[in-house]
Amino acid sequence: MASYRLLRQHLRSIFSFTSPGTTFGECNAFQGVCRAHKRCLATSRKSNSDEHQYDLVIVGGGIVGTATAQELITRHPQLRLAVLEKESELAAHQSGHNSGVIHAGIYYTPGSLKAKLCVKGLKMTYAYCDKHNIPYKKCGKLIVALDPEELPRLEGLLERGQQNGVPDLKMVGPEQIKDIEPNCVGLKAIHSPHTGIIDWGLVTKHYGKQFEAQGGKVYTNFNVSEFGLRTESKENSSDGLTHPVQIKSNSKTGPVISSRYVVTCGGLHSDRLAEKSGCDPEPRIVPFRGEYLLLSPEKSDLVRGNIYPVPDPRFPFLGVHFTPRTDGSVWLGPNAVLAFKREGYGYTQFSLTDLADALSFRGLRKLAFQHLGYGIKEMYKGIYIRAQVKQLQRFVPSLRPQDVVRGPAGVRAQALDRDGKLVDDFVFDCGTTDLGRRVLHVRNAPSPAATSSLAIAEVVADHVEKQFTL
Ligand SMILES: Cc1cc2nc3c(=O)[nH]c(=O)nc-3n(C[C@H](O)[C@H](O)[C@H](O)COP(=O)(O)OP(=O)(O)OC[C@H]3O[C@@H](n4cnc5c(N)ncnc54)[C@H](O)[C@@H]3O)c2cc1C
Repeated sequence: MASYRLLRQHLRSIFSFTSPGTTFGECNAFQGVCRAHKRCLATSRKSNSDEHQYDLVIVGGGIVGTATAQELITRHPQLRLAVLEKESELAAHQSGHNSGVIHAGIYYTPGSLKAKLCVKGLKMTYAYCDKHNIPYKKCGKLIVALDPEELPRLEGLLERGQQNGVPDLKMVGPEQIKDIEPNCVGLKAIHSPHTGIIDWGLVTKHYGKQFEAQGGKVYTNFNVSEFGLRTESKENSSDGLTHPVQIKSNSKTGPVISSRYVVTCGGLHSDRLAEKSGCDPEPRIVPFRGEYLLLSPEKSDLVRGNIYPVPDPRFPFLGVHFTPRTDGSVWLGPNAVLAFKREGYGYTQFSLTDLADALSFRGLRKLAFQHLGYGIKEMYKGIYIRAQVKQLQRFVPSLRPQDVVRGPAGVRAQALDRDGKLVDDFVFDCGTTDLGRRVLHVRNAPSPAATSSLAIAEVVADHVEKQFTL
């Protein structure tokens, strides 16, 4: 029956033939029934009168969603693709609120997806930016040890970085630290010359533009509230049930989108989006806000490149650092405190639902219990900026409290399991119901997902091709 419907559709498209991008040669029935059916599906999709009907929809207009959209439309130019973003512009959350560092791949466990995708992602980022004239600066980075007990960890990091294939890393002593960063002190440091800085929000918007230029459609202000599965064709519809997934927004007047398949890249809402298609609620997302300080413009020559501490292996965050920005400013920080709202960029931004959600989750309670002291210290540093400056002065002693003001903040989507363990690598998930099998979720895309975005997009596209019949 289904195959009869496909054949009928195929024949109709040969004779009606409305899509401007299709040639008779492409749709020639004698080129093999399977190929013709596939091609023809795309043809009938393009000419379908329902303008909100797609082959594949990507939910989430952050850097992972837009990179994935760009990769998929490049691989499958004949398909109709759309990105749905709930805010009025792309990169409104993590992708537009981060440190702006192009990471080299030093920290991550050798062999992990995170390590491989970061090293590859850095190279892809530089090549992409060179091709499209997107500004960046390869200003390098120092990871500085201040205490003798940090030295073995620093040596371990160098080994890791080298195992991960990060090029040109070297250990430097106090004199060379001064040559690289005249205002910085330290016992020893790893120097990574290929680490860079960039505006990841700008990159995300560029991915979005490229996607649109290739025929993709971006819907903003489309807050996905529900996924459903149509089990019957619409009245007078000729498409059978080829696009059964219905995506509704919380707007009463907005369109209902129908699609064959969906990929979600929802960042801080990735667990909630997964639940909407019947997936496991875990891992849950717990929002951690990172607050930055801003160096006054007349002091912005205090640092030349990135200066980072030796990270504490118990936490996924890299510790407060000095980061020059592409616009000439310098950001210091961030700390890491529980946000009272998933997208809460200040202490006054509060959501009862989000907070209750976080506190009722056993994983967060376990984590909080284990690291209560650390959490309180981080909050203290957030409130009393002198405490944060004191920590930063250990690296750059000439920094004074009057040189800084409060700066912007970002909120990290930290995936947690029920035992309070931080989920460190990427998580892909699909449900087992008819609906669930058509919706693939990228549930965890932690830092350095901006650096790795083009490499992640390839992995997601491979997953899509394996999971769905495009
Ligand atoms: C403070 C901080 C510093 C960081 N520093 C760096 C760094 O220096 N270098 C680096 O490589 N990485 C860094 N990262 C990590 C990096 O920014 C993120 O890993 C990356 O941006 C994640 O991208 P994303 O697309 O998954 O998420 P997001 O950018 O959060 O995008 C998800 C999108 O989904 C949308 N969405 C959610 N729910 C719905 C819905 N129901 N309907 C429609 N749309 C929806 C959201 O509005 C959002 O735009 C940092 C992160 C933070 C927070």
